[in-house]
Amino acid sequence: MTDIRQQIETLRREIRRHDRLYYVEAAPEISDRQYDRLMDELKALETAHPELITPDSPTQRVAGEPVEAFATVTHAAAMLSIDNTYDHESLREFDRRVRRGLDGRAPGGYVVEPKVDGVAVNLRYENGRLVLAATRGDGRTGDDITANVRTIRVIPWRLRGDDGGVPEVVEVRGEVFWPTALFLQANARRVEQGLEPFANPRNGAAGTLKQLDPAVVKERRLSFVAHGFGEISGDLPERASQLAARLERWGVPFSGETTIVADIDAAWEAIEAFAAIRHTLPYAVDGAVVKVDRFDEREDLGATSRFPRWCIAYKYEAQQARSVLLDVDFQVGRLGTITPVARLTPVQLAGTTVSNASLHNFDQIERLGVRIGDTVVVEKAGEIIPQVVEVVDGRRPPDARAIGVPGACPVCQGPVARDEGGVYLRCVNPECGAQLRERLRWFAGRNQMDIEHLGPALIDQLVDTGLVKHFADLYTLTDEQLTPLERMGRQSARNVVEAIAGSKDRGLARVLAGLGIRHVGGRAAEILAETFGDVDALAAAGPEDLVATHEIGPVIAASVRRFFDSGAGRDTIERLKAAGVRMTADRAAAGAAPLAGKMVVITGTLSGFSRAAATAAVKAAGGRTASSVSAKTDFVVAGDSPGSKADKARALGVEIIDEAEFVKRLKA
Ligand SMILES: [Zn+2]
Repeated sequence: MTDIRQQIETLRREIRRHDRLYYVEAAPEISDRQYDRLMDELKALETAHPELITPDSPTQRVAGEPVEAFATVTHAAAMLSIDNTYDHESLREFDRRVRRGLDGRAPGGYVVEPKVDGVAVNLRYENGRLVLAATRGDGRTGDDITANVRTIRVIPWRLRGDDGGVPEVVEVRGEVFWPTALFLQANARRVEQGLEPFANPRNGAAGTLKQLDPAVVKERRLSFVAHGFGEISGDLPERASQLAARLERWGVPFSGETTIVADIDAAWEAIEAFAAIRHTLPYAVDGAVVKVDRFDEREDLGATSRFPRWCIAYKYEAQQARSVLLDVDFQVGRLGTITPVARLTPVQLAGTTVSNASLHNFDQIERLGVRIGDTVVVEKAGEIIPQVVEVVDGRRPPDARAIGVPGACPVCQGPVARDEGGVYLRCVNPECGAQLRERLRWFAGRNQMDIEHLGPALIDQLVDTGLVKHFADLYTLTDEQLTPLERMGRQSARNVVEAIAGSKDRGLARVLAGLGIRHVGGRAAEILAETFGDVDALAAAGPEDLVATHEIGPVIAASVRRFFDSGAGRDTIERLKAAGVRMTADRAAAGAAPLAGKMVVITGTLSGFSRAAATAAVKAAGGRTASSVSAKTDFVVAGDSPGSKADKARALGVEIIDEAEFVKRLKA
């Protein structure tokens, strides 16, 4: 038993370490799949030994129920903002003010840390447990966003202070941010789904924290980095940097870029050094913060009504530049979305040369009133994607031209149509070469059919030479056809053919995800595959059957129907089937799990499980849970005071079981 306990603890430590590498350092050491394997191993051990499940286990990080509205909470210690400065001289002036405030003494060191462009939050731990997470709000009161924050993997639910030194109350302050790479992926998906992209990672993170459904927050994969403290009880160490180091040992992520320096000259050097590397960090940074390190000196210095006097933010120059719009190109995406891209005279922006920028869509062009020849302001949104933000007045040349909306696809010359919302223009030719390229890349991608060796350069050649006109054509490629292509030898051709053949058995969920059916991402594809089992059952499902599926809404249902009702969709399925691609769900793997394919509703209070633990146990046993009873529910677990869900279950004739029976079924 001790062995298993140790094994579980080791796995949890490993998973937490990888969470941190992934979300805070942006330097993962293992693939997503290896990570999932660790998680599966932990879940399996915990399912076999439910008595060893602890609330702070990574498996327990399931999203709670949606809330109606956020409660307002009063901060124990006000959340002040930080005064800003923009040049070296004002930074020296700050140092002089600090010395005056300390009766002429030099402060005992400064801390310099990145100013992360995220959303400020306060995390309150009582006896080491996270009891409240709140937004800054107006500085005195904020929103209680605990349920959302609990879905953020790097934020510990419990501080791992094993030396017993965790203060009774400790409030950690920091920034919730959307890691740049994950933000870009999410935005690309939004565009594919016809949704308005977020302007930058900060707006995206702020909008996400305001979501009432924690499941949405969990899916967005936000991260967090700590930088300060609110209320703290008990004896403090002398320095903030010591407290930070202690909390870091207990699991709170602080920035690895923080430096402790002796004086303001060294602080300035640190700021300059940091400016050179800040674009390599996983989060957007708009400056550096300099803080007095010693707590007693902070106390002596105090605060104005708005800012603490012991810290200052040095902001890097705004990442904007002027350029001239030379022309507009149109790019065609995987689902036919046509995006206008501005071609600019090259300008330096945030350390890179920018010669094109996004114009997003045709509404945006109209809003800006921009013409070819105009002088425009280009900005790096969240310092990542350059975009045209405004037209400079009075600089329009007489020969400025309006930007035309293309009447045909710029790649295939096929017909185009406006989206339902009217914002996006799409090429509607299913044979469009541009779309085919993008679709094949997506299809071969790691989270879809995962075809190794089938990279963008090879896909381009396959499309250009006409060897591949359809997904299914991949499966009939031969060594002889591939060998003559550029950068291809006999051995690499054989590797490609083998990798393609190896993808035939990925299962229905990945095929569905790979086909690029609008609104059907990886998660929806998995649910559809699990629920319907094989492609024929799915193709035969009416809109009402689809909507009755947990988590499948009317938009996804309509899109799935459109796909299976279209000639092109049916043809795709038939051809893939004929090519030997497996079109059934992965029941083989799930079959071994005791609750495989079962939909469970839990109601009332259970004596041996928290709600989160019960949900996790169902999931670990291969089942899924829903918050309301429907005809799709296999059984309801009723604890004490079960309420209306049990009534509904009786009305629908759904089986109701007690906790003892539930425990039995988890192990069956
Ligand atoms: Zn086209």
